[in-house]
Amino acid sequence: MVRPRPRLLDFTKTPSHLQFNKYVLTGYRPVSTAHECVRSLFYMHNELGNIYSHGIPFFLFLVLLPFSIPWREVDSIWIGVVHYLACLSPTVGSVLYHVFMNHVGGEHVYDTLLSLDMFGVCLVNTLGALPIIHITLLCFPTVQQAALLVYIFLSAYGIYCATTARTNVLRLRAFVWQVMFRFSLFLFRVYGSGAGSPDSLRLFVIMDSLAMLGGLVNVIQIPERFVPGLFDNWGNSHQIMHVMVICSIIYLHWGTLEDLTWVKNYQCPAE
Ligand SMILES: [Zn+2]
Repeated sequence: MVRPRPRLLDFTKTPSHLQFNKYVLTGYRPVSTAHECVRSLFYMHNELGNIYSHGIPFFLFLVLLPFSIPWREVDSIWIGVVHYLACLSPTVGSVLYHVFMNHVGGEHVYDTLLSLDMFGVCLVNTLGALPIIHITLLCFPTVQQAALLVYIFLSAYGIYCATTARTNVLRLRAFVWQVMFRFSLFLFRVYGSGAGSPDSLRLFVIMDSLAMLGGLVNVIQIPERFVPGLFDNWGNSHQIMHVMVICSIIYLHWGTLEDLTWVKNYQCPAE
């Protein structure tokens, strides 16, 4: 027997922990069991766009990325593995968060899922940067090892901040220092002795710009702020951020591929 789809709720009727965007007025799923959350993949509601805008790229990345990584040319296999996991990580947590956020477990389940979503974003920041650090400091092995360790240590602190933050602004702030660390690497490539393809830098700068712009759009809730209710199902700030995150991952992938191809013909200058 096909069960009828549940009646969707307005903003004021949804539980308070799900009232995070007052400009999305309709289309809220009622509190649901895990099975009912999964069934919501097949009817329209205001989280469907969020689920599929990360769900479809997840499967595409999972299947296609291994074919585009030049495994034989990568000097250390860990770079390829870390890069692959980095590209997958933000979409996994995000899909789980958006599918099950209205679970009957309430605010506790919601907070856990939100932390998982944030953890995925932290992971792409952290893992995605390791190949960049590795290649930039290729000719300074001691500094390279130290920088990788410092970055992992600081990332653990960033993960703690991002997963325990209570507001979007605080969550965004947890990522700022990672962006600054990467920016200092880019400066070392341009003005110092950092290694790396001249073409990858542009791709990495676009990557960070897209990610930050996406985060900003999500915080300021544009365009739905101007016409509340019009973007309930499609085109709201959170979906725009999702698309920008996917574009950012694609630029990370292109930049890393560019570096990996470049580095195999590179010799560090003699002392
Ligand atoms: Zn999301």
